[in-house]
Amino acid sequence: MNSTYMETQHLIHGINMILVHYGEIGLKGKNRAIFEKCLIDNIKKALGKVKIYKEYGRIIIEDGKGAEEKLKKIPGIENFSLVHIADLNIEEIKKLALEVAKNRKFATFKIDARRANKNFPYNSMQINEIVGKEIKEKLKKEVDLEKPDLTIYIEIGDKNAFLYTEKVKGIGGLPVGSQGKVVSLISGGIDSPVASWLMMKRGCKVVFIHFYNERLVASPKKLEEIIKILNHYQLQTKAYFIPFADLQFEIIKSVPARYRMIVYRRVMTKIANEIAKREKARAIITGDSVGQVASQTLENLNCIYEASSLPIFTPLIGMDKKEIIEMAKKIGTYEISIRPYEDCCSFMVAKHPVTRANLEKIKEMEEKVIIDIDAIIKKSEIKKYSL
Ligand code: ATP
Ligand code: MG
Repeated sequence: MNSTYMETQHLIHGINMILVHYGEIGLKGKNRAIFEKCLIDNIKKALGKVKIYKEYGRIIIEDGKGAEEKLKKIPGIENFSLVHIADLNIEEIKKLALEVAKNRKFATFKIDARRANKNFPYNSMQINEIVGKEIKEKLKKEVDLEKPDLTIYIEIGDKNAFLYTEKVKGIGGLPVGSQGKVVSLISGGIDSPVASWLMMKRGCKVVFIHFYNERLVASPKKLEEIIKILNHYQLQTKAYFIPFADLQFEIIKSVPARYRMIVYRRVMTKIANEIAKREKARAIITGDSVGQVASQTLENLNCIYEASSLPIFTPLIGMDKKEIIEMAKKIGTYEISIRPYEDCCSFMVAKHPVTRANLEKIKEMEEKVIIDIDAIIKKSEIKKYSL
């Protein structure tokens, strides 16, 4: 028996049983088991002491009281339901469906059966008919296949039948940890937390890097709050907070105001590359979206990304600000992101920064900026978060 979960077994019709469906399990085939284990480990981490069983395509949590809000935040979960469990026997299923229906107020209903276990002697159509007839006759209710007041879902699993009436939507995607690590450049704005979240949703473990001017901000509390919200989705988080005042001063000294933002972002990118190397991360994440601000014209993004040897992924690149704000609200970071924060660059950049930077020119200016990446990373404060 595996230490983290048990293969499904005959389950007692308990209370607070939750049936979890995962959707896309990346790369499938042989890797499927790895993804399932990753998802189950994450559920355990989020819920603490619970018993978990698995069957092909589904996970069953025993005594998942109060789990709903946590499950809604675990990438890899497509949907989940509070379930009633019956023996694999049509008479038992009929009895349980009737019991479930009796406790509900409804005029019309439908049965929606799925037979995953093909050894069960009735196919889904037959189950729909048999159980539907029972409820229709015993409770005097009407069937409505289009817009029923109540739907009773029945799933025929390997060892049990599952009955439920509501599906709670999860966030989908892939379980965190199934795709390896990335480092995310996170600012106090709205965008980069959303970009980081989208990578978590694709199964990546995100390590955060935030640069701040320690002479303007005593401590980057706002960022900590944002990272704590994001930690609910990946459960364990590491973050680098890097004081950056000296380096900003260096840049101000050597680079004309119109070009500072680009040089500044190139330097951040180089430091992020070094941290990524140490963390064994495979990509750098930013919250860029084409044309949103001056640093995000195609020309300027070219100049900035050229400083990276790792690929830079920008999940928001084609999104509108409105769409990004919607997502930030759903994730829970928006309200914190809009709080005032002395952004480390607002005071150092020009009113009209260059929008079409020339790489050669930028590199020339950059040569005059003396940076000791090692020393900068040494000065960073590394914090770890768990639930
Ligand atoms: P955001 O809302 O994410 O701050 P933005 O639209 O304000 O984005 P910029 O301020 O130009 O755009 O920043 C672009 C990207 O550069 C950010 O999304 C983030 O990935 C990175 N970045 C900017 N400032 C910082 C910082 N202080 N620390 C770490 N990364 C930063
Ligand atoms: Mg910003």
